Amino acid sequence: MKGKSDVLVVGAGPAGCAAAIVLARAGADVCVVDRATFPRDKTCGDAVSNEAIELLGKLGARSDVERAPHALVRSAAAIFPSGHRIARTYDKPGYIVPRYHLDECLRRAAENTGARLVQGTRVASLVNDGVRITGARGDDFDWHAQLVIAADGYGSVGLPALKVSGPRGRELAVSATVYLRGVRFPFGEDVADHFFERELPCGYSWIFPAVDGVSNVGVYLRSDAYARTGKKLDRLLEEFLVRHADRLAGCERVGKTRVWSLPIAPRRMPLTAAGLILAGDAAGCVDPLSGEGIWQALRTGMLAGETARAALAFGGLNPALRTRYEHTCAHEIGKPSYRKRWVQDALDVIVQRGLYRSTVVRSLLAFGYEHRALEMTKS
Ligand SMILES: Cc1cc2nc3c(=O)[nH]c(=O)nc-3n(C[C@H](O)[C@H](O)[C@H](O)COP(=O)(O)OP(=O)(O)OC[C@H]3O[C@@H](n4cnc5c(N)ncnc54)[C@H](O)[C@@H]3O)c2cc1C
Repeated sequence: MKGKSDVLVVGAGPAGCAAAIVLARAGADVCVVDRATFPRDKTCGDAVSNEAIELLGKLGARSDVERAPHALVRSAAAIFPSGHRIARTYDKPGYIVPRYHLDECLRRAAENTGARLVQGTRVASLVNDGVRITGARGDDFDWHAQLVIAADGYGSVGLPALKVSGPRGRELAVSATVYLRGVRFPFGEDVADHFFERELPCGYSWIFPAVDGVSNVGVYLRSDAYARTGKKLDRLLEEFLVRHADRLAGCERVGKTRVWSLPIAPRRMPLTAAGLILAGDAAGCVDPLSGEGIWQALRTGMLAGETARAALAFGGLNPALRTRYEHTCAHEIGKPSYRKRWVQDALDVIVQRGLYRSTVVRSLLAFGYEHRALEMTKS
């Protein structure tokens, strides 16, 4: 396929669809290309924070998502190896929405707004004319655009254009997830449980409320700490299932265990180049502590769309627009993530040394949780 548009968005996940919706609403000619054919699944915990739901509303996808299969998350708990639970209730519930449905709703919103979608087509590389990025190519794809937004997640085709390698160590997390039918919820069916355990350094495991009887269960670790465990990720997940047999024994597996990587913030790299903007996981925006990345993808996708819209109006992606985009991402995502990484390190010391047994430490943790330091769903 050969063609051209004002803007080419690579990837039709949350970041790419958000960018496309903002641009199409502004009347730009925008094409989104994705290697998958929709509806498609995506390896994820499926937790959509209430702040992400607000953004879905702004993008015109919220009511569609609310009609799709989902569960409400009214409270969350951090659980320590002694069994101590620190819980909090949300003012506004978060949702669990299988990505098969969430991403389809976003895809539909993008196309309904006027974006063109090319599915089942993989971009192999971006095209550089020596001055700026001018498009993208694949086996049967050759596209020219004034601007490219790389929203293609982990392993983005945008990284070589920035002369940046893939994330590693403290800039990367790994996660495994499986769907189980028949999970027991002794504390209520709308509680998202996060287990902080010695076996999962700089990470946690989760049991999320069931959607149509099926729960998303998984483990998440920062990759430098994961390397020190000396175990495979799926083994760590299996061991978690055994440790929590009271909730999980006898459950029916729905599908296979799936693993994927998460580029976590703050990532020390540029997020733009001449003619190019990175958004979402491609830009390394995942919350290091919780692994939340959908809100970040929607937010940076919207910002990338607004930046591209301004670039089309003012004759190109000039240095001022690039700086503004990068500063806003640093302010809204990079800096808070830096603090969250510090919390993650402190929490790891608390778990590894058994300090959660102290009432003082537990009170501090409860205070932190109440003030949104730990959990995925935020308000
Ligand atoms: C196991 C796991 C659990 C998680 N749990 C949660 C959670 O509960 N809540 C949460 O908020 N976040 C969670 N995350 C993070 C979240 O999944 C991501 O942060 C989010 O999907 C990022 O959105 P995105 O649009 O940037 O990228 P993606 O959702 O990865 O979308 C990228 C799109 O680009 C397409 N693509 C990729 N390469 C190419 C190419 N070369 N050519 C064309 N198309 C391409 C892909 O097909 C895909 O559709 C989890 C992640 C993992 C791995």
